[in-house]
Amino acid sequence: MNTWLDCRRRYRFTYLDRPQPSKGPAWAHNSVGASVHNALAGWWREPYDRRTPLTASILLTNGWITEGFRDAEQSGRWLGRARDLVSGYVATLDPSDDPVGVERTVATRTRVIALSGRIDRLDRRGDELVVVDYKTGRRPLTQDDARSSLALAAYAVAASAMMRTPCRTVELHHLPTGEIVEWRHTEESLARHLSRAEEVAMEASEADDRYRGAVGARPGPRRPPGERQTIGPAEVPGDVDKLFAPSPGPICSWCDFRRHCPEGQAAGPERQPWDGLAE
Ligand code: SF4
Repeated sequence: MNTWLDCRRRYRFTYLDRPQPSKGPAWAHNSVGASVHNALAGWWREPYDRRTPLTASILLTNGWITEGFRDAEQSGRWLGRARDLVSGYVATLDPSDDPVGVERTVATRTRVIALSGRIDRLDRRGDELVVVDYKTGRRPLTQDDARSSLALAAYAVAASAMMRTPCRTVELHHLPTGEIVEWRHTEESLARHLSRAEEVAMEASEADDRYRGAVGARPGPRRPPGERQTIGPAEVPGDVDKLFAPSPGPICSWCDFRRHCPEGQAAGPERQPWDGLAE
């Protein structure tokens, strides 16, 4: 849903064109984010007496993803920073307070759509569940980020339906600053998000159908293992292409499919894979 809202062309490249058009190189900031998320998830899977800051550090080091960094020196420096981040964060947690779920997939249906997603952490606080989402980016978060997130609201609705327990609070945990931004939804605000999700999903699904009607749903040729040829976008009729119009803007500098998108290339400068790091 967020990809559809951000840029319909990117949505098409991500979910419809098969084989998928080749992406640009991996981003170092995504490597940091994925390594941190994996370490924090792994930490809760450790037995109680191993849930220490040192264990978080070891998990992070063992699972460190090196893609996208300029060189080994930069990767090593960020490994050190990320180690401090996870060990500092888990030091603020109570290791005996097991979450209800970690990287937990939740799903629910409305009259119109089926929703599913994966929650970083689902806590129980008193009689309610709380959705926790980890953030590792450099941008400080605001309460508006938690309030307006369609994904967090959908997770809350799905978690509540699956566990038959109220879930109205969503939290963003910004690891670089240790800040926690919380929003408590009402029944009405959750319903508003859900109805927005339905609108977005219906719109995307109608475009999917038009695409499949014109291009077919058959999978494209398989790429032989190890072959690194560049795959371009699928050929689509003009009227279908119009349904997936580009939305050029600042996000284009960070778009994996920028190489296939002249409008995106014109919208902003090309970035190096490590440019998203807060150096
Ligand atoms: S480069 Fe920009 S306009 Fe093009 S697909 Fe990516 S996000 Fe959309």
